[in-house]
Amino acid sequence: MKLDLSEIARILGKRYHYDVDETPIRDETIVCTEPMRGEIDFSNTGSLIVARGQFSTTVQLECGRCLETFTLPVLSHIDEQFDIHAPAGLAEPEPAAETEEEEEPESLFVENMLDLTELIRQNIILATPIRPLCDEACKGICPSCGQNLNEAQCGCETKPESPLSKLSEKWKQRQSDGEE
Ligand SMILES: [Zn+2]
Ligand SMILES: [Zn+2]
Repeated sequence: MKLDLSEIARILGKRYHYDVDETPIRDETIVCTEPMRGEIDFSNTGSLIVARGQFSTTVQLECGRCLETFTLPVLSHIDEQFDIHAPAGLAEPEPAAETEEEEEPESLFVENMLDLTELIRQNIILATPIRPLCDEACKGICPSCGQNLNEAQCGCETKPESPLSKLSEKWKQRQSDGEE
């Protein structure tokens, strides 16, 4: 979804209210299970278009402990600004040094067209935990047999696995073997 902001870009002080209601993003980076809904207000402050608003959706994530998929409601606040692109013909030629200077990645906003889907995607990623958990109390999976411990216990020993404890177990076993 691309938004044409060229009319706002033309008029200083112009405001534009956009009701967000976009089809869920589903790709390799994000899977939304509900439409992204909210609102964004755009305003022309002279050299910038300021975008402020918020939207919510639900994303599907994989738990960092038990690897099960679960859904998480996400509320994202948008607070961005974009350099207004001077209309063709009116643009004053800028010194080469300045145009080569990349202040921000411009992929979101090219020639006063805003890539709304990309803006929303980036804000969803920012609002999503890096290591999501299906539940703070998620028990994870058994490191030995892979059983999801939230669903059932397994027969494996529940001792904390560490190389040292394994070594001392072996040592104890040898001691008792020797005693017999
Ligand atoms: Zn989990
Ligand atoms: Zn197990």
